[in-house]
Amino acid sequence: MLEIKDLYVSYGMVNALKGINLKVMDNEIVTIIGANGAGKSTTLMTISGILKPKKGTIRYNNIDITKKHAPDIVGMGICQVPEGRRIFTNMTVLENLEMGAYLRKDKMISTDMEKVFQLFPRLKERRKQVAGTLSGGEQQMLAIGRALMSKPKMLLLDEPSMGLAPIVVQDIFKTIKSINKSGTTILLVEQNAKMALSIADRAYVLETGKISLEGEATVLINDERVKKAYLGG
Ligand code: ATP
Repeated sequence: MLEIKDLYVSYGMVNALKGINLKVMDNEIVTIIGANGAGKSTTLMTISGILKPKKGTIRYNNIDITKKHAPDIVGMGICQVPEGRRIFTNMTVLENLEMGAYLRKDKMISTDMEKVFQLFPRLKERRKQVAGTLSGGEQQMLAIGRALMSKPKMLLLDEPSMGLAPIVVQDIFKTIKSINKSGTTILLVEQNAKMALSIADRAYVLETGKISLEGEATVLINDERVKKAYLGG
């Protein structure tokens, strides 16, 4: 379980997070929705250890990870799929997936690669293709597949719907749901509030660095304030 308490993060003079509190329980899908610049990516990057907070704590399974380095956090089972995918464009699909397993010491890598291919048959067909030539949707699948190769207990997803056609977004979200059903906890950051709320158990609304609303996704999807600000009225 992940627990964030009173987290403040700044970029120089810009205060991106101003005291947020957030919990993710094992096996949940939790989403953070909010407009551009609300602080969603900052939250994920701070959990991952890429950014260091000015104040506040992040605990994972009762261990304080606030000051831990990013590779140690991956080693503990938390893996981030960054915004804009950040795949290795000059490497093949297969090589990208192998890079995801880079920090692992066990020998079950081929079994997990097969699991990724079951989840994304398209990646199996294209395993020798250079990743930079994949479509946007395929690149997103690869970014998720690469993260799964680290065998995460918790996946942090940053805007998986970005730049993708609605039908591809539906596919990706179905897969996120099935990854969760097979035992991976999900923290999902999204501007596409409708899709995110449709698969999440609980949600937080982030507004200029503060949590303005939180609750069960089925409740928030019918909340007038959420409807007006994030679901197109
Ligand atoms: P988006 O959906 O547009 O990615 P977001 O909710 O993820 O938005 P963040 O990227 O976390 O928002 O940004 C939060 C705030 O921090 C914004 O005001 C942004 O301009 C600022 N910010 C983000 N990265 C930096 C940076 N490297 N240097 C300075 N300010 C930054």
